[in-house]
Amino acid sequence: MTTLPDSRHFTLERLADGVWAAVHSVGGWAVGNAGIVDLGDVTLLFDTCLTDSAARALERAAVALTGRAPGLVALSHYHNDHVRGAEVFAAATVVASTVTRTLLRGPGHEELASDRSHGVAQLERARAFTRDADPHKRAFARYFVPYWEGLVASAPRASVRLPDVTFDGAVHFHGSRRSATLASYGAAHSGDDAVLVLEEDGVVFCGDLLFNACHPYLADGDPEGWLAALDRVANTGATRFVPGHGSVGTLDDVHALQAHIQGLMATAERFHRGGHELDDLAEPMPDDASADWAFTYPFYGANLRFLVGRMGGDRR
Ligand SMILES: [Zn+2]
Repeated sequence: MTTLPDSRHFTLERLADGVWAAVHSVGGWAVGNAGIVDLGDVTLLFDTCLTDSAARALERAAVALTGRAPGLVALSHYHNDHVRGAEVFAAATVVASTVTRTLLRGPGHEELASDRSHGVAQLERARAFTRDADPHKRAFARYFVPYWEGLVASAPRASVRLPDVTFDGAVHFHGSRRSATLASYGAAHSGDDAVLVLEEDGVVFCGDLLFNACHPYLADGDPEGWLAALDRVANTGATRFVPGHGSVGTLDDVHALQAHIQGLMATAERFHRGGHELDDLAEPMPDDASADWAFTYPFYGANLRFLVGRMGGDRR
């Protein structure tokens, strides 16, 4: 068995002959998962991690595994932990949906400016939780201290690499070895989320449409759209699903996230009908299996506040 060229940022997992997932290592600066796909004549990357150093490690892994640097880079959505490393791939053709390119031009640049101006303060805030009495806040520090360390190191010199090619709906890549489809599933986790479907391999790279044993982040997207998108993910017929965060999952993990989002919506509805104010939700904690998931703090409470908040004034 050959040793895979892992780095401190991620662990590589072989999903098929010529298909690998780069799964983020806690403590590294990848933060978002990525994929390496050998199409035959060209190597395709799906997402590019949070920092240039993690993206360079991804490039080295692609060269070691496929014998060539990535020629195509497909982006799932505009969030920094999935796209920031794209600037490393100057010679590659970067592909994303039309909406994602628009979001990179606006909110993507705003996020970079915010990372630059608030990174040091956010890193100090995360470090303050390292010895907190609350285990959820210590877990927050374990994930978010490296996240902010990576941004403090990389954001000052980073730029937003805009896609060269955009598509609406889906774009198909055909190599001598396999085909792959990059499909936009619309507003879901963000303003637009695309997945990479490898039909013959039974693999879907889901981007942040799938968080596996991690709390999802709802507040930048459309929860109903997300549930519909997860139906589409489940209906691809695939058996392995690479999440944006967490380990490679199965169809059960897709359904578990759907059930969790539905549960959050029901809990928010109960709060709303009960006449509670948003302040009542200062820091709620789940009372089900998701209490053991990563990112319980701060995403569980943030998701409930978002869902209750958008119910607005129609309190019954
Ligand atoms: Zn995201």
